[in-house]
Amino acid sequence: AQGTSLIQFDSWQIQNINRSGKSSIRKVVFHNMKPIDTLYLDSTAKPTSELYKSLIDLDVMELPGQLDIFEPELYNCDELFASTGALVYVIDSQDEYLASIENLLHIINYVYALNKNINVEVLIHKMDGSSEDFKMDTQRDIRSRITTELANYGSEEILVNFHVTSIFDHTIYEAFSKIVQRLIIEYGALENICDMLMEATSLDKVYLFDINSKIYIATDSSANSLQTYEACAEFIDVNTDLIGLYEEDDNETEDVNGYEPTKGGEDTGENSALALRTTRCFSELQNGTALVYYKAIRGLGLVAIVRTNGDFQTCKPVIDHNLLMFKRALERIWERERIEPSYE
Ligand code: GDP
Repeated sequence: AQGTSLIQFDSWQIQNINRSGKSSIRKVVFHNMKPIDTLYLDSTAKPTSELYKSLIDLDVMELPGQLDIFEPELYNCDELFASTGALVYVIDSQDEYLASIENLLHIINYVYALNKNINVEVLIHKMDGSSEDFKMDTQRDIRSRITTELANYGSEEILVNFHVTSIFDHTIYEAFSKIVQRLIIEYGALENICDMLMEATSLDKVYLFDINSKIYIATDSSANSLQTYEACAEFIDVNTDLIGLYEEDDNETEDVNGYEPTKGGEDTGENSALALRTTRCFSELQNGTALVYYKAIRGLGLVAIVRTNGDFQTCKPVIDHNLLMFKRALERIWERERIEPSYE
């Protein structure tokens, strides 16, 4: 990843032995396929490349396991790997994985010689349906084999990130969120504005989601838990379904769940169009907090957990104002930093 754009045009490779779950991951994360439907996926015979355009533009390429990835007839692998932001390697934890690890080490050494900036991300995948002990042992074994072998090759400077994943829970989204965040050079600025929003609004947690994929491209610096992520991601699903029922076109104002559109003061005049294009929803919870969803820019949505002490009505104007400020900050970062990706 080069340049200083908020949105980095990047690509990653999903590569491994056949049937490890690469297509399933791509379909579940980027096409909203139900995990159970991946049972019927055909094996991918050719490399596939797909472009996902939102605030972050990503070129996701899947390399089928049965192919020799260094096959020159398929593509120019030197050129490809030299410009790739992340190499995502999927290891099927339910299968015999020693050959897969050997294959990975071969790929890492090849790719790293071409591109020292590449992020190597290993998914220890299909970690579901097994006991906690099995999960721990498998994870430890795979990690230690890879790091020991890299040290034996004299390549210990290569940093490998490990993620324990399954398409049947939110771990796959968590992993891809981390993978994508590492590709965003301005992640620090995004985290900063999330922290500022937290401070100004009595929030417990903030996520900036890519709405379609449910990858969070930023969050505040407080501790993150999978349960919090799950609650916020599910809130997006519920609200996008609801908004779909109400929304006729993008320029209309919605009033979902009784949340009034912003009126008056700061939000009128030249910024009113911005405010009107915004969709906000909330849900009050019984524990004195509320979930707030706010449609931001370029396919992004912000979900926050607000401490209301049971009085959401009083908090609403502050939340409303601060969320609008957040969106403006986001727009400024986007305008200042973006570099238009160029595609052939
Ligand atoms: P590919 O050849 O690497 O693209 O593998 P596929 O995506 O075609 O997946 C092979 C099989 O693994 C399918 O039957 C999927 O349903 C299954 N699979 C994928 N991900 C998971 C997972 O996280 N857990 C389990 N248990 N099965 C999975």
